[in-house]
Amino acid sequence: MSRSEGPTGRMAVRVTDPDDYPVEGDLADYEALVRRQLEMVGEDPERNGLLKTPSRVSKAMMWLTRGYGQTAADVIGDALFEENHENMVMVRDIEMYSMCEHHMLPFFGKVHVAYIPNGRIVGLSKIPRVVEVFARRLQVQERLGEQIADALEEVLRPKGVGVVIEAVHLCMMMRGVEKQNSRTITSSLRGLFRDDSKTRSEFLRLAQAPTSI
Ligand SMILES: [Zn+2]
Repeated sequence: MSRSEGPTGRMAVRVTDPDDYPVEGDLADYEALVRRQLEMVGEDPERNGLLKTPSRVSKAMMWLTRGYGQTAADVIGDALFEENHENMVMVRDIEMYSMCEHHMLPFFGKVHVAYIPNGRIVGLSKIPRVVEVFARRLQVQERLGEQIADALEEVLRPKGVGVVIEAVHLCMMMRGVEKQNSRTITSSLRGLFRDDSKTRSEFLRLAQAPTSI
């Protein structure tokens, strides 16, 4: 486990098991809030099955929003390498779980990220971690894509960045909006991905091609 002070003052902590997530400070206020929430929906917080729910919910929420304590620079660290590769680098099908800021309900799906290097590349495994930094906050899908693109642009100074997100939103699916099977697709394009139609169409074709492995 490692920890460092994030920009928001929250501790940035790396753990593998969410149940092991160490919570800084006292979650008593949060737990009281969840108990009140249970009462407000007509539940009895003293019921056996709910006794530990306030504690579980408050820890789960800290885990699900842990991106507030992290930055892209934190997770990339020194995994930047001088390299003259000039073609598109793409990481497809990155699993993404986030929560919409309007209903605090999950939205989840896949993120496809590509960039064209300009003298340096980033360790491939760092790209999904950059996605995590921004997904683990309250979000809207549009802003999530923009933040991932901006962060990579800032760190890599590439010739271009493209981010496509395909997701389903539980707030649409569960609230009787009758959009059970609709996916929301957003794209955030920078540099050559925005200005050069060949680059853009190559990226979008690769992002949408059926997966073969
Ligand atoms: Zn929503």
